[in-house]
Amino acid sequence: MEMPGNLYVVAAPSGAGKSSLVKALLEVDSHLNVSVSHTTRQPRGQEQHGREYFFIQPDEFKAMIERGEFVEWAAVHGNHYGTSRGVIEGLLTQGKDVLLEIDWQGALQIRKLFPAAVLIFILPPSWEELEQRLRRRGEDQADVIATRLENARTEVAQAQFFDYVIINALFETAVFDLKTVVHSQRLKYAAQRRAKAAVFHSLGI
Ligand code: GDP
Ligand code: ADP
Ligand code: 5GP
Repeated sequence: MEMPGNLYVVAAPSGAGKSSLVKALLEVDSHLNVSVSHTTRQPRGQEQHGREYFFIQPDEFKAMIERGEFVEWAAVHGNHYGTSRGVIEGLLTQGKDVLLEIDWQGALQIRKLFPAAVLIFILPPSWEELEQRLRRRGEDQADVIATRLENARTEVAQAQFFDYVIINALFETAVFDLKTVVHSQRLKYAAQRRAKAAVFHSLGI
């Protein structure tokens, strides 16, 4: 489906810094809209319904799948996560840029539906650092952290299917890398032609 807005998909193993990086990007880029996913996982300490996620019950999630309300969904770390079809298609058709923070399975589904989507994978600098970040974050129980670290082995192996890879060692460097990827997409011919139609017109091209 051809849509005028740019679509970015950011995936990473849990604890690599995806949410922190996206938050930092949004502070300097007011043109990006982040899609709020639905999940069956329990909210963490500070998380609010409708802000980080729409927290719903498994039967509600199933009903949404049956009604075709997800553009993609996946089972991740024992819970279900999905992206609302209406929200992202609405924004993209209005020419708005959309960013999805989803797992690799969802990212590959999105690429099939939106071949122009830009897939970005965030890697931690090492296994030791990933484990430390998950522990330091202090949001998940030890067994949940163990599951996430175990699943991270399969997840990092998916980086090869993404368009861009960012290694989140020094935070500011990784934010700069993410900004660069987002910006360069906006300089592509088709995107410039849409965003700066008047200039192209005045130049007669
Ligand atoms: P979460 O999604 O609820 O875990 O929230 P964030 O991951 O966005 O942020 C958790 C905490 O880590 C906040 O207090 C951030 O300010 C802090 N933080 C973000 N980036 C860095 C970093 O590069 N280094 C350190 N030491 N702390 C950071
Ligand atoms: P994700 O969304 O990928 O699960 P978070 O953004 O929650 O990861 O980051 C996990 C933890 O690591 C957080 O406590 C965050 O503050 C920290 N963190 C993120 N990036 C860095 C970094 N470059 N250096 C050190 N700590 C970081
Ligand atoms: P967390 O529980 O740490 O917030 O997220 C766990 C994993 O689920 C992460 O890899 C995150 O990117 C992924 N995720 C969050 N929302 C969605 C979604 O809507 N769809 C898919 N496929 N994955 C999601």
